[in-house]
Amino acid sequence: MTENIESDYARRVTAVTNTRFLPGTSIEIIHDWPANAKPTHAIFDFDGTISLVREGWPQIMVPMMVEILQETGTSETAEELSTIAMTFVMELCGKQTIYQMLRLAEEVEKRGKKAEDPLVYKRRYLDGLLARIKSRREGLANGSIRPNDLLVPYARPLLEELHKRGVQMFLASGTEVEDVREEARLLKVDHFFGKHIYGAVEDFKSFSKQMVIEQILRDNQLSGTELIGFGDGYVEIDNVKQAGGLAIAVASDETDRSGKPDTWKRDRLLGVGADVVVPDFQDYKALCEWIYDR
Ligand SMILES: [Mg+2]
Repeated sequence: MTENIESDYARRVTAVTNTRFLPGTSIEIIHDWPANAKPTHAIFDFDGTISLVREGWPQIMVPMMVEILQETGTSETAEELSTIAMTFVMELCGKQTIYQMLRLAEEVEKRGKKAEDPLVYKRRYLDGLLARIKSRREGLANGSIRPNDLLVPYARPLLEELHKRGVQMFLASGTEVEDVREEARLLKVDHFFGKHIYGAVEDFKSFSKQMVIEQILRDNQLSGTELIGFGDGYVEIDNVKQAGGLAIAVASDETDRSGKPDTWKRDRLLGVGADVVVPDFQDYKALCEWIYDR
């Protein structure tokens, strides 16, 4: 039933060996990048890559799914349903939210009940999530929370550094575009992207991160090596790699901001060919020097 314009996760790279760290940094180099290739355009994912406003979203999405699946009268326990939901939610993570809801609808029908329109599930989830993050958004708006406290560590100086180097920046998110614009504004990072902030729309087939990448390359007559992409989801890493760009995996630890890579994200992003892995942007200077000053 899913008309899928964003491809599912497919592991392309199985064995990763001989990676190295840039000396004295948390930057893990998986594939070398030609010293003469200097990306002039950068595409960023938003949630988990720049923003932590929505940190904890699975704790809203998964229990909602368990509740909906329980309503089918299945004999599976809440715990079993939670494991099933968590698995497919994380598998689809990085695509637009609607894909997780399309999958939920399939799971409901598999259990012999008529599913609701996936858009209904999506609205219910967003209502729950917005209630959870309301205090964060309000805190940012009234100044009781500093923007940097809800940014992936050192995201701002990285954006400043790339801006200084004349890199044109684009934001593309699987979250609803109005919310991305609003949260980027609250975090005071919107000006880095100007009008180039893209996100999910109700007509979900009219948006994908791949479309944004293709448009950047076409409009600016770029080759893939002129593009750099940053993301904590497989979609953007996969898309940037397919386009021939430099894919920086941000294996961010959103909950604790420990400065150590999230091992699940790292492994998953290596699987679609990430070139570099960072836990956050604490070593943004060294990263930019490695890309631009060799
Ligand atoms: Mg993300």
